[in-house]
Amino acid sequence: MKNQSITDSHLRSLEEILRKQRAEILTNGKTLRLDFNIDKNELLDEVDMAIADIERGMKMRLGNRESLYFRKVEEALLRMKNGTYGQCLQCGGSIGVKRLEARPTAELCIDCKESAEKAEALNAEGRKHKSLGELVNFKA
Ligand SMILES: [Zn+2]
Repeated sequence: MKNQSITDSHLRSLEEILRKQRAEILTNGKTLRLDFNIDKNELLDEVDMAIADIERGMKMRLGNRESLYFRKVEEALLRMKNGTYGQCLQCGGSIGVKRLEARPTAELCIDCKESAEKAEALNAEGRKHKSLGELVNFKA
């Protein structure tokens, strides 16, 4: 399905954001600070590296949160390369430019994201009640 709502210039600016975030993680590890002194040619080459290779290295240097986010950035860049960027992974619909600008790594459209979050919240709620119950039992 061709995504009509996202233009080439949008794609380019989003790609730029993703590449910067990617470079930040790569160069700074745990400190996510902006660094504009990045060699762009070097970054282009890095995109072609196998994700598995990068991840192996990342796991050694970064915490789980960073390597998870790095993976999301990497996958978003790959989707741009494949021409599937901006499509919801679940329903195939358009994610929408506004949402992508707010969150360039978005994988789901807002509808799918909301239902995923609802399901997640229900799970979390279930866990919370369970642990609360344990706490009450402990106090009693
Ligand atoms: Zn969707």
